[in-house]
Amino acid sequence: MVLVPYLDLEKIHNEIRDELTAAANRVMESRWFINGKEDAKFEEAFATYCGVKLCVGTGNGLDALRLILLAYGIGEGDEVIVPANTFIATALAVTYVGATPVFVDADINTYNVDVQQIEAHITDKTKAIIAVHLYGRIARMDEICELAKKYSLKVIEDAAQAHGAMLCGRKAGSFGDAAAFSFYPGKNLGALGDAGAVVTDDDEVAEKVRALGNYGSYQKYHHVYQGCNSRLDELQAAFLEIKLKNLEKWNEERRQIAKRYSDEIRNPKVILPPACENEKENVFHIYPVLVEGREGFMDYLKEKGVATLVHYPIPIMQQQAYAELADRADLYPVTCRICAQEVSLPLYPGMTKEQIDWVIECVNGYK
Ligand SMILES: *Cc1c(COP(=O)(O)O)cnc(C)c1O
Repeated sequence: MVLVPYLDLEKIHNEIRDELTAAANRVMESRWFINGKEDAKFEEAFATYCGVKLCVGTGNGLDALRLILLAYGIGEGDEVIVPANTFIATALAVTYVGATPVFVDADINTYNVDVQQIEAHITDKTKAIIAVHLYGRIARMDEICELAKKYSLKVIEDAAQAHGAMLCGRKAGSFGDAAAFSFYPGKNLGALGDAGAVVTDDDEVAEKVRALGNYGSYQKYHHVYQGCNSRLDELQAAFLEIKLKNLEKWNEERRQIAKRYSDEIRNPKVILPPACENEKENVFHIYPVLVEGREGFMDYLKEKGVATLVHYPIPIMQQQAYAELADRADLYPVTCRICAQEVSLPLYPGMTKEQIDWVIECVNGYK
């Protein structure tokens, strides 16, 4: 038996341990912890990496989304198109600002939003489409941007799971009007704590996001908006800058592991994630398989030492927090199926060949 945790950051942190320690010492010595040089340096590096003009650090990914919506003046009475199959943060950002999320079901061929169904959900109240690159796979941005153009809507990318994913030479975060990233530790680019960022080519939005996350002020003690406190710490920015330099390598490793799973897992009970046409379109934040009677499969793997997770077990409209939407669940059959059957296999840079072999052997041996 080989033990395979769902995620283990030890290997990648060992690779850069000395650099991380030096960065922590540097920040401590500088005696400057918020809104300083480290933040500016990371923001510039991350904007360049994403192929956009501007990056503004935030406290986390949810705030990044929320601040984009606020910066665009989206709020009460407005509707925002949101994929039904996503992490709850996408919807929370919308309801936080007082707008109404209008859910659109997933496409079984991508697990991302079904672009064919978006147009029917657009009304005269719709202000924006949030495109989520779920599990690390870029959503159908060409169609989404075309629809947005037709109806004069903003396109906001929730790129929290897709750092570095690439399509037609463009990176996740560079397709829409603005994009939100999370650097939650388990993400493909993760801090050593909570952190997030907004990237955009739009100067006005970047400036407004920065002010909104800094008590609504451009100038100390002059408050233009009723803002909040959501900034990227110097310490996290310094860590992220180091990790960013390794992101391409780590994403490539994720893709190699995913390729082995897709090539070698053969079990009629286990449906593999839909293939992409372009290799770099998916950075495999998650490797989702569908299995009927998921509990038995997960228990079986657990006994074999292989940890799994579910992303996500309950559709947003069936969450207690959104009880008022409960009766609408049957409008999202694909999302409900994914939520009922999805199992995430372990996949992270630093997995050993032995661990990967073992996962494949165990999944293939499941009856
Ligand atoms: C992680 C995540 C978020 C939220 O990021 P936090 O940093 O945890 O606030 C938003 N959307 C998606 C799709 C995510 O996976």
